Amino acid sequence: MLGLMQNRQLLISTMIEHAQKQYGDIEIVSRTNEGPIHRYTYKDCAGRSKQLAKALTKLGVIVGDRIGTMAFNGFRHMELYFGISGMGAVCHTVNPRLSADNVAYIVNHAEDKYFFVDLPFVPLLENVESRLNSVEGVVIMTDKAHMPDTKLKNVICYEELIQSENDDYVWPDFDENTASALCYTSGTTGNPKGVLYSHRSATLHAFSALSGEGLSFSHKDTILLVVPMFHVNAWGIPYASAMCGAKLVLPGACLDGRSVHELIEKESVTVSAGVPTVWMMLLKYIKDAHKTFSTMRRTIIGGAAVPRSMIETFKKEYNVQVLHAWGMTETSPVGTACHLKRKHEGMLDDDFFALSAKQGPPVFGVEMKIVSATGEELPWDGKTCGRLLVRGPWITSGYFRGEGGEAIDAEGWFDTGDISTIDEDGYMQVTDRAKDVVKSGGEWISSIDMENQTVGLPGIVEAAVIAVPHPKWQERPLVIAVKQPGATVTKEDVIDHLSKSMAKWQLPDDVVFVDELPHGATGKLLKNVLRTKFRDHQLV
Ligand code: ADP
Repeated sequence: MLGLMQNRQLLISTMIEHAQKQYGDIEIVSRTNEGPIHRYTYKDCAGRSKQLAKALTKLGVIVGDRIGTMAFNGFRHMELYFGISGMGAVCHTVNPRLSADNVAYIVNHAEDKYFFVDLPFVPLLENVESRLNSVEGVVIMTDKAHMPDTKLKNVICYEELIQSENDDYVWPDFDENTASALCYTSGTTGNPKGVLYSHRSATLHAFSALSGEGLSFSHKDTILLVVPMFHVNAWGIPYASAMCGAKLVLPGACLDGRSVHELIEKESVTVSAGVPTVWMMLLKYIKDAHKTFSTMRRTIIGGAAVPRSMIETFKKEYNVQVLHAWGMTETSPVGTACHLKRKHEGMLDDDFFALSAKQGPPVFGVEMKIVSATGEELPWDGKTCGRLLVRGPWITSGYFRGEGGEAIDAEGWFDTGDISTIDEDGYMQVTDRAKDVVKSGGEWISSIDMENQTVGLPGIVEAAVIAVPHPKWQERPLVIAVKQPGATVTKEDVIDHLSKSMAKWQLPDDVVFVDELPHGATGKLLKNVLRTKFRDHQLV
């Protein structure tokens, strides 16, 4: 017997429609490429998204067409999120930090019909334009006064495009399984692969983000969205914000510590979201400039492991609670959020920080398990490491155009490529990417664990651990670290520090200091670059 409930479709347009009606006066604040801070409301955003949908329709865009975007976090990008998806087309966010080859590959693979570009990325697009096969026109995301001189063909000014339409538009109704957005993985091995989200998956994921055991957003929040809108739909936060009417602060291109802190203070931000590298810069600035946070009490950090020392600094020195979350492009991305359970109430600082450094339990909707190399399920004892598999309604079922073959097994499990433990309480902890783990004499050494311990040593700013080939042990760990200017930390200090928590056989064979570490398009350490650079490093 079927239930007798209405089968209303879960559509992205309903989010901005709700925000317009319920939270029409709440602000969206953007640091613009043109310079000034821009502020308007969800009502304005909703109206302009409709103008955009009408303009796209006039350009011949139909349901299912892919529309590329290459832009920072700003109000026009918000309008693209709602306008493109809302009309039934697919919002394809392209990461501007990818190589020109990758950008050309991705746009051609997606067959983007139109391409929307922020001012700073016009030169990048000019460089690849001749290699793009499907793009019929490029919309520059600015007003008439700021239109650049460009050799791009078929150029349209964003403000002129939407101003030619009014907001008298009714969002179309269609199947919630319709594709809404497309995002390519960064492709450190092989070609980038497209993850195609649906209206249903985006809505369920955003509901989860709003829940207390998810990212716990509410109408009372002012959210600083540092995580880029060109990566995994900015963790779905633009959608979740519209659903609960949180004030949204979009930092544009300026992610240095001073600019981020200024926005946090001026806009009374209560919660922020981003990858660890951004918070590293922010914490350094705050310390050097003797600043504090007046209103920010929570920060959501994910995309890479958060070192325990960062969680401690935020809490002890600035009274900011870190929520550690894990996910990937293929998981929309939120899979886990490290909230404490009842049994943890009142736990001692030391245990609290150790637990908070785990990636945490899965949010409702995501199932997970760890398996051995031969696929047997492994115990949840907090010690046994295995490949992490996940499944759920916002986990990919396959890549766009079938790239890379089957993405899931017969029971719907997706192999994340992460190695992790799960403890008795269901808390997952990533010990490594499968390709980064150091395999020494048949044992595994966690590079993430060693990196986190290394940055816990005063004087170290950042650290990467890679496996270096070894004639006897197959691989041994090498620490590559960046010191604070003027710090006198030595190799021996690092090894001494690590030996407090690690077994002798796990200790690195060498520590080298460098001026900086290479980061990829989403702020993550580029270990493949380090592996190439240090391939012939002689361990001592
Ligand atoms: P990519 O395109 O490189 O896969 P993603 O953002 O999808 O970019 O990367 C996902 C990967 O990032 C995860 O599989 C995991 O290895 C890593 N990751 C994400 N969040 C965390 C976290 N909180 N702790 C450790 N690793 C993380």
